[in-house]
Amino acid sequence: MRESLTVSSSDLAPGAPARAVVDLDAIRDNVRALRDHAPSSDLMAVVKADGYGHGMVPAARAALAGGATWLGVATAHEALALRASGVTGDARVLVWLLVPGAPFADLVRADVDVTVAAPWSVDEVAAGAREAGRPARVHLKVDTGLSRNGVTPADLPGVVRRLATLEASGEVRVVGVFSHLACADEPGHPSVARQAAAFDDAARAVAAAGLRPEVRHLANSAATLTAPEVHHDLVRPGIAVYGLSPVPQLGPPGAYGLRPAMTLEARLGNVKAVPAGEGVSYGHLYTTPRDTVLGLVPLGYADGIPRHASGGSAGVGGPVAVGSGDARRVLRIAGRVCMDQVVLDLGPDATERPGDVATLFGASEGVAHGATVPNAQDWAEAAGTISYEIVTRIGARVPRTYAGKDVQP
Ligand SMILES: *Cc1c(COP(=O)(O)O)cnc(C)c1O
Repeated sequence: MRESLTVSSSDLAPGAPARAVVDLDAIRDNVRALRDHAPSSDLMAVVKADGYGHGMVPAARAALAGGATWLGVATAHEALALRASGVTGDARVLVWLLVPGAPFADLVRADVDVTVAAPWSVDEVAAGAREAGRPARVHLKVDTGLSRNGVTPADLPGVVRRLATLEASGEVRVVGVFSHLACADEPGHPSVARQAAAFDDAARAVAAAGLRPEVRHLANSAATLTAPEVHHDLVRPGIAVYGLSPVPQLGPPGAYGLRPAMTLEARLGNVKAVPAGEGVSYGHLYTTPRDTVLGLVPLGYADGIPRHASGGSAGVGGPVAVGSGDARRVLRIAGRVCMDQVVLDLGPDATERPGDVATLFGASEGVAHGATVPNAQDWAEAAGTISYEIVTRIGARVPRTYAGKDVQP
């Protein structure tokens, strides 16, 4: 696995405190790799939540270049923005998290596939289709055991009957049946087989009502990589599209042919010598163990750096790579993560200077696997969370810039 990053030779503009660089070629290549993992299924790249923080439209463009033929989003606003951007072309777009009053007519007009995940939505979808003057393309989401969104087994017969009536009168086309797994990130978990069986039951009930959906889909990233028996017609990976491992306990990204697309870097704003015994940052959770040099990184929790990744008596701080050549090393945040900044103990022999670039995470297998640049999974472990939350929360104040030789943003 390559580490495409050189810590000190960044082209981060002089005077710019920080940026997230998104490698669109990586997103394209990750989608290609995921298609190889599910060779007989189509692929829906999930680009909700601003493309997991990478930028929804550029991420969609890169995923389509990698062979995705579907794009998935959570909200109506995301779906309409994606269609308005024009990147989607012939790709299908599916939206699955809707509330009463959602703009069903706009979605149908924009050729977005909509989800029926609860009894209330059947009538609203039909009304939206009548208003738009064309049938709504509907995916029925069934709850097979996640107990989150989706029609329960008890409600399913009634919902299927109403959809069949609306299909007969031309207001809807039931084009998909889908569900979502609770524990796919724990391969072999018995709930996966239970949900798969419940999904098959639901698909049979739909067929028995005379409905003939084009696609059945159940697999998220973890199932795309580890559970071929649930690939069905379409797989729906999200996190893996961005090059992060959905099952880190089984291996880093490279184990699945993936590479992380986002690099987060910042310029040191201050480098200064302090004596031994100095408390560092709010609450003095960290005390300098010797005369040393501190470096200030201008990113904090307002930028999405988790405060749980504070270091010192608060725990093992989030990792940051500094220096180049022989001086390259991974340090841990010293003390509290503040709103706008964090501090590093660069050590007594530090050669870093103000303006040098530090890398918080990048295209790496992770320091847990011996890399000299951290990845988002390393941050997840330092903060007691998952890599999804690390990349998705990078704040609006951090500009995204796009890299990649082939795919243009
Ligand atoms: C977010 C989401 C996905 C993608 O999940 P990953 O774990 O990121 O692969 C797929 N399907 C649904 C319904 C989702 O909400």
